[in-house]
Amino acid sequence: MNALAATSRNFKQAAKLLSLDSKLEKSLLIPFREIKVECTIPKDDGTLASFVGFRVQHDNARGPMKGGIRYHHEVDPDEVNALAQLMTWKTAVANIPYGGAKGGIGCSPGKLSISELERLTRVFTQKLHDCIGIHTDVPAPDMGTNSQTMAWILDEYSKFHGYSPAVVTGKPVDLGGSLGRDAATGRGVLFATEALLAEYGKSISDQRFVIQGFGNVGSWAAQLICEAGGKVVAVSDVTGAVKNCNGLDIPKLLEHSMENRGVKGFSGGDALDPKLLLTEYCDVLIPAALGGVINRENANDIRAKFIIEAANHPTDPEADEILSKKGVLILPDIFANSGGVTVSYFEWVQNIQGFMWDEEKVNCELRTYMTRGFKDVKEMCTTHNCNLRMGAFTLGVNRVARATVLRGWEA
Ligand code: GLU
Repeated sequence: MNALAATSRNFKQAAKLLSLDSKLEKSLLIPFREIKVECTIPKDDGTLASFVGFRVQHDNARGPMKGGIRYHHEVDPDEVNALAQLMTWKTAVANIPYGGAKGGIGCSPGKLSISELERLTRVFTQKLHDCIGIHTDVPAPDMGTNSQTMAWILDEYSKFHGYSPAVVTGKPVDLGGSLGRDAATGRGVLFATEALLAEYGKSISDQRFVIQGFGNVGSWAAQLICEAGGKVVAVSDVTGAVKNCNGLDIPKLLEHSMENRGVKGFSGGDALDPKLLLTEYCDVLIPAALGGVINRENANDIRAKFIIEAANHPTDPEADEILSKKGVLILPDIFANSGGVTVSYFEWVQNIQGFMWDEEKVNCELRTYMTRGFKDVKEMCTTHNCNLRMGAFTLGVNRVARATVLRGWEA
């Protein structure tokens, strides 16, 4: 099932549990605005190359729209649409005053030079600058983009509108980025996992973890889980997978991955077929890479007891059903990976206040938001007698629905 169909299906189930009015339901599903732009740049060899960029602004009932921009060869309008919708529910679950948006450019960032990436980002910003803004839509990094990408957007946007650091989050700290933002999604995953495990009388230090993805989210999650005493027994990225039943030495794996641009060839473990990673023996499985990776093909073979969705929509609805029958508990993306956008919010607040927080304050506030978020999700599970995914969806959808009605937009 494609990402948009899957996300809309989850939304509709939540709308039913909430007995939402059908007109309101329909208006919540339709995106506010979908932007498509053609970005043509000169390549380093002098030839021209053209890339299609998207920004889908889904909803702004609760505040400015918010969400990342991804650079990936599989970016397509339907997926960006689904991811924008997920951001609307995610910011509402986190209870931060934002709506949802997502952007992307269909390109292979690894095949472009730094100067080509800079030109592409600047052209994209030139085409988009009138549609984004501090109180309109605030982009951030996502797959294939980073703080440097945000610095280029900030600089290009500022040429049109004056210096505006709060127009993007996930910036370099030297340009007003927040301390702790880089680690925030991974740290949020740690706090979310702690909260879930505590419900079952378990803790990080007595669990074995498998992590798919060793990019910004996966590598930070691995590091922080390891620091908290958890055993990370297998990890994969685009280059390959590595396994060690006694626990991988994560700081050494990070060093290896930095030097060799991937986990492949790490001597502190055995090579593993990346296709088998998700079905490796463990207690907690953390998909932290692409969407749709857990599906009806592999769901039956998953041996983890808990799945923490650090990636966006890693689990297909068909897999959801299979896993639920098997008794596997899934902490859904719109809560589990909300640490990133939550610290983005702290960054935006710091920029607007013109006052920088220390890292301890950032991490401490993040813990508060994640702990409260888990409690709120659980309450919805009890109210609607549903699983954690529907608990999170009903929580998010209900908050957006209330704001929509209060603003008189439901008709
Ligand atoms: N790209 C991240 C996400 O999917 C962060 C978005 C943001 O910080 O605005 O949640």
